[in-house]
Amino acid sequence: MFQVVKEFLNSLLLREMLKGMALTMGYMFTQPITVLYPMEKTPMSPRFRGLHALRRYENGEERCIACKLCEAVCPAMAITIESEQREDGTRRTSRYDIDLTKCIFCGFCEESCPVDSIVETHIHEYHGEKRGDLYFTKEMLLAVGDRYEAEIAANRQADAAYR
Ligand code: SF4
Ligand code: SF4
Repeated sequence: MFQVVKEFLNSLLLREMLKGMALTMGYMFTQPITVLYPMEKTPMSPRFRGLHALRRYENGEERCIACKLCEAVCPAMAITIESEQREDGTRRTSRYDIDLTKCIFCGFCEESCPVDSIVETHIHEYHGEKRGDLYFTKEMLLAVGDRYEAEIAANRQADAAYR
């Protein structure tokens, strides 16, 4: 009986509605948690796994030694590598392709690379408009690496203690 009376009074006094409005009013005076993307952006982890890049050393030499560990570890079989021996006796890739339509951005390629060559950058705002646009060749991956090397190096430095 007491419960019935209590529910009746709660209903009569619009208690639930007032509780909801009080909650809404409370949020009106706090910092909004939404951002106006893409003008505003939230912080990104140094470990964010976005568009791939191939890196070079400071002297311009490409890091990749064509060991094919990344190709072997890739669960999506998105990486295709062909290699050749150069005149100086070193081994380098003659082909390094990533099909981003297959990639699941697991980061295994990056983790497996012994020379920090293949990495995933913070870039996530890219798209393709026709078949093949998201098939990245060695030249395209090196170009991404060249363009964003400073940020890539800074992110890896920030995460170095945890690797
Ligand atoms: S992130 Fe994962 S799925 Fe994508 S290329 Fe690297 S290993 Fe393959
Ligand atoms: S990117 Fe790294 S793991 Fe892949 S073939 Fe080159 S050196 Fe080996």
